[in-house]
Amino acid sequence: MTRNDQAIAKPAVSAIFLFLLAVLALPAACAGDTKTIDLIIRGDHVLTMDPDQTLITDGAVAVNDGIIVAIGPAAEITASYQAVKVLDGTGKVVMPGLINGHSHGAMTLLRGIADDLSVMEWLTKYVFATEVRFVDEEFVRLGTELACWEMLRGGTTTFVDMYYFPDSVAEAVESCGMRAVIVPSTIDQKSPDAEDGEQSLRQAIDFVERWRGKNNRIIPIIGTHSVYTVSPENLQRVRAAALELGVPVGIHLAEHPFEIEITREKYDMTPVELLDSLGFFEGPTIGAHVVWPSETDIEVLVQKNIGVIHNPNSNMKMAAGVSPVVEMLAAGVKVGLGTDGAASNNDLDMWEEMRLAAFLQKVSTMDPEALPASAVLKMATSGGAQAIGLGAEIGSLTVGRRADLIQVGFSDVHFVPTYDVVSHLVYVADEQDVETVIVDGKIVVKDKQVLTVDTQRVRAEANALAARIQAALAANP
Ligand SMILES: [Zn+2]
Repeated sequence: MTRNDQAIAKPAVSAIFLFLLAVLALPAACAGDTKTIDLIIRGDHVLTMDPDQTLITDGAVAVNDGIIVAIGPAAEITASYQAVKVLDGTGKVVMPGLINGHSHGAMTLLRGIADDLSVMEWLTKYVFATEVRFVDEEFVRLGTELACWEMLRGGTTTFVDMYYFPDSVAEAVESCGMRAVIVPSTIDQKSPDAEDGEQSLRQAIDFVERWRGKNNRIIPIIGTHSVYTVSPENLQRVRAAALELGVPVGIHLAEHPFEIEITREKYDMTPVELLDSLGFFEGPTIGAHVVWPSETDIEVLVQKNIGVIHNPNSNMKMAAGVSPVVEMLAAGVKVGLGTDGAASNNDLDMWEEMRLAAFLQKVSTMDPEALPASAVLKMATSGGAQAIGLGAEIGSLTVGRRADLIQVGFSDVHFVPTYDVVSHLVYVADEQDVETVIVDGKIVVKDKQVLTVDTQRVRAEANALAARIQAALAANP
């Protein structure tokens, strides 16, 4: 086409374009300029958990194809969108789903099997011993289903799960409709799914390759138990494999004084210094617990952009200590919140975790201003998302992010009166107040009923399996 032709062609093209635009706009205009979408979730209050923690009174969230497409006053949203389904928001608060940044889901089946013991006795005599005897694919599938049921009814939409038989975890997560970062735990000793560290790492790599990109709700990464159960060489192998696969590594880090002592004795370093010296932090890392970081450790956590997961219930029950959460947050460490496994908690209740996180910082620093409600709510949502490497996808109600959100009923007597929504969410709300849970745009809990788990079957199977374990332990302790 010559320059002249172009000049002649332009008005014609413009006319055709305008005509097409008018034709395309016609159906929208006929429907009152509304777009048809999957779902509108309304609430007396919508707490976005964006950086300003915006609270919209009589708000709504518009969802299509699993993505948040709009958020604002309900009147504006309902005028702009026609939804296949609209969830009423009377007496409810809409907020992002909670993120459990560190758990061992299948350990729900070991809930209460051994309490009130020192961490080493608990871990070696009970947990590791019971796991090697009883944990198999079926145990993990069932235990993860039980965990999904408990977490979903409590408003958790994403969890980080570090355990064995990761395919069984992934299958349970796939069917229950949650989002999970699945972390096969590599360890040097014989474990339920491997003879040694080499085999467990090989299996972890295979798992990541098998599940990567298969389902956007399932994020396979690599894990390694800790610096006291894995050799420096194997820790380096784990990081090298993770770098090659382009995935983060999850690890228990600086959890208990004995871990600090062992690492000091063996390597004359703190666990953080040891990992840093091994080049272990040269890629995204999720460090669970971090109860005993030194001042210089905290600098390393900031420099290396390590995501830290605080587990106040487990730390208190195992007498691990008080994590310096306030110092870490002030230094710029990304800190999320987690329950740890049900054998050291003993439940997967993120509301309790939030409350205790706040109280533990206040009482240990003797400062009631330490870790206020808004900061702890951030740790359970947007802050937690950043700590686990999903900060761009989930954690806040933001246009373009995955639609993981909950409706919390504010009608129970313990919310009366309501001066401050954020205060009530952290200092009052319980799992039982969660009425609706949506993950990836799908309703998975409605009117407090978990729709994606066969709860009757899971309850019966869990009780039957626990009875078999108890009988076997009685016959042969
Ligand atoms: Zn743990």
